[in-house]
Amino acid sequence: MEERSKAIQDRIREKARELLLNKTVDLIIGFGEGSFPLRTTPRFIRDPEKTDRLIWNSFCENNLATYLHKFNKFKVGIVVKGCDARSVIALSLEKRFKPDQLFLMGVPCQRMVDRRKVKRAVKGEILRAFEQGDQIVVEGEEFKTILKRDDFFYPSCQVCIHRNPIQADVLVGDPVEESPLIEIHPEIQEFAKKSAEERWKYFEKESSRCIRCYACREACPMCYCAECFVDSSNPKWIEKSLSPSDLEFYHIVRAYHQTGRCTGCGACERACPMEIRLTYLTQKLNRDVKELFNYETGIDTKTLPPLSTYDMEDKQDFIK
Ligand code: SF4
Ligand code: SF4
Ligand code: SF4
Repeated sequence: MEERSKAIQDRIREKARELLLNKTVDLIIGFGEGSFPLRTTPRFIRDPEKTDRLIWNSFCENNLATYLHKFNKFKVGIVVKGCDARSVIALSLEKRFKPDQLFLMGVPCQRMVDRRKVKRAVKGEILRAFEQGDQIVVEGEEFKTILKRDDFFYPSCQVCIHRNPIQADVLVGDPVEESPLIEIHPEIQEFAKKSAEERWKYFEKESSRCIRCYACREACPMCYCAECFVDSSNPKWIEKSLSPSDLEFYHIVRAYHQTGRCTGCGACERACPMEIRLTYLTQKLNRDVKELFNYETGIDTKTLPPLSTYDMEDKQDFIK
């Protein structure tokens, strides 16, 4: 196992045990071994003797802030990467928790490895995968392939500039050096240069592959409404079909509901079984919000997102 990940894992286990033993928290939310290679799973632990089930590596891709909604009556200790910590701040601004309810174990993030990209890079079924220094070792029945970790990051992780948690009660690893700001993912930048017709065509094609499983919604910490607009029958905003208009409506409204609230963690995209590039919309919106309102989600613990507030000096030119 990679040395840095091992040190972080030891520290998470030790801190989680201490927090449960001294009853600072009722529950720990972290990562555990997944059932398949290249996967981890969210792990919920109440027993201090079971904290050795917590793990840390480059496959800890879920945004764990998503699970906080299910435990908002408890004191929770949670493992947070840079993006998860930003989601916690955004959710706190929306009053989802009481300030003293959470204990954040912050992990300066080494960027997460894209399991689909790894699978595409090898021929045959992967039976085992692990980190070794800056490499990923992938083994199957008849092969062993060594890949350079840096070539396999998720698109959202490639452009991440907030890998160190902005807010944490304890840091369980040494801070990492933040990258300079890349305005928007180069792929999306290229896409933005296309004509409106070309972009719409791409959007139509991508959204037509959606099966409306809502895994993207479930994976996102910011999607927590008791009743999502897609499920409401009174009023009924959208049909249950896979018609182009229903699919496009779902994607457009989902993206707008994330305006000024999305941290760009990429959890929605990673959850999508159809591999739809959902962050084409959300990343562009994030950039627009930054340009128009100088606002970045989950950075400032006091300022509400632009669409949750107003200023008498706001431009009103759009109301004509
Ligand atoms: S978006 Fe940033 S903080 Fe989140 S997993 Fe990727 S690199 Fe880490
Ligand atoms: S919309 Fe996607 S990228 Fe944005 S916060 Fe939700 S899961 Fe993360
Ligand atoms: S996860 Fe993918 S397929 Fe499922 S609803 Fe979201 S975009 Fe559609």
